[in-house]
Amino acid sequence: MTDKQQLRRYIAQEKKKHSSETLDQLSDRLLQQLEQHPRFRAARTLLLYHSLPDEVRTHTFIERWSREKHLILPAVLPDNTLELRHYTGPHDLRTGAYGISEPVGQLLADYRSIDLALIPGVAFDSHHNRLGRGKGYYDRLLPQLPAYKIGLCFHFQLLDGPLPTEPTDIPMDEILTDQGTF
Ligand code: ADP
Ligand code: MG
Repeated sequence: MTDKQQLRRYIAQEKKKHSSETLDQLSDRLLQQLEQHPRFRAARTLLLYHSLPDEVRTHTFIERWSREKHLILPAVLPDNTLELRHYTGPHDLRTGAYGISEPVGQLLADYRSIDLALIPGVAFDSHHNRLGRGKGYYDRLLPQLPAYKIGLCFHFQLLDGPLPTEPTDIPMDEILTDQGTF
């Protein structure tokens, strides 16, 4: 087993120590901080993600902010890459790979129009390295985005590190947890 796989298992264990209600509360706390963040306030076009149950929970947040800002969401393609589509509302979603709600709206034509990218991760470290679920989705997407990148995670997913990395792993510009920004 690789170091990365061991770390993914360790984080899965840590997550089990928190109830779904607690993860909701921690998510709200984190997203309230995000709303105050100068980069978020200034951003007009944002890349977000629809959360899986064990990720920082973004569904309500997306619904609310879609009226104020221009939101972009990823959709998983069969070749294990992500495409980016405009989010227009809950009517414009279908369930994609992993049971994630993905937009069916217009494809994002110009990736440079994204001002801020909010990225989920299994773990991050204090050097801003990111560990994903092991398919490299964001490692292939992020080199195409000049946007400022903030990794979102619960405090117990931020490790002192350093995380094991490969040259293809793309670091974040900043990590935001329910306990603050790093
Ligand atoms: P994750 O980022 O989801 O944690 P990994 O970093 O372990 O996953 O990457 C998963 C696999 O995808 C690895 O074999 C990695 O080498 C490969 N990979 C990642 N980024 C790229 C890329 N830009 N081009 C080709 N392969 C990549
Ligand atoms: Mg990676």
